Amino acid sequence: DISALPAATGAARLTVLAGPTAVGKGTVSADVRARYPQVWLSVSATTRAPRPGEVDGVHYLFVSPDQFDRMVAAGEMLEWAVVHGRNRYGTPRGPVEEHLAAGVPTLLEIDLQGARQVRESARASGLDALFVFLAPPSFEELERRLVGRGTEDAEERERRLATARVELAAEAEFDVTIVNDDVRRATDELVRHLGLDPDGGAGR
Ligand code: 5GP
Repeated sequence: DISALPAATGAARLTVLAGPTAVGKGTVSADVRARYPQVWLSVSATTRAPRPGEVDGVHYLFVSPDQFDRMVAAGEMLEWAVVHGRNRYGTPRGPVEEHLAAGVPTLLEIDLQGARQVRESARASGLDALFVFLAPPSFEELERRLVGRGTEDAEERERRLATARVELAAEAEFDVTIVNDDVRRATDELVRHLGLDPDGGAGR
């Protein structure tokens, strides 16, 4: 839970970006990171193996199942979930608390189960958090993207598409929907919700 978060400061808002698999959450977050350095993007811990080009500590903290267990047991995870019935992913709590306390707009890019956990905690603690659903233009487009990026084998792809079908229905639980028809446009819409000017990153 996030009851210890600095709810009353009002200095920075926690924004949670979620949405179905392959909708482009990672691409939009990377675009935020590249163009809006004043936003801090949380680095999740995961038990899955790194993909080519992924850097430990930058894209994820790549940890063993034992390390992940220890982090959960120590209460270090703000939320965590098994995603696609396979690997575990979680948001380390400390860095989120520190950035919010320091007044830095903070973005979590997590799955829907994680978003639900954060919503429950935020509700309980009165934390000002905004929940943004990133939606694909259509299910067909989502399927096309998942095949196109070629990072999963056929079995994993089917598993993720089945998850995505269910996940599309979760839109109603969110404060805001952004359609990811164009990455730059979607990013700019997101940072506007973060209270920043979507002008290439020059700040408020
Ligand atoms: P990928 O393996 O493609 O990098 O990510 C798979 C899924 O895990 C994505 O839907 C992503 O949003 C989700 N994910 C990444 N980090 C976290 C996290 O810290 N918590 C939760 N609940 N999901 C996460």
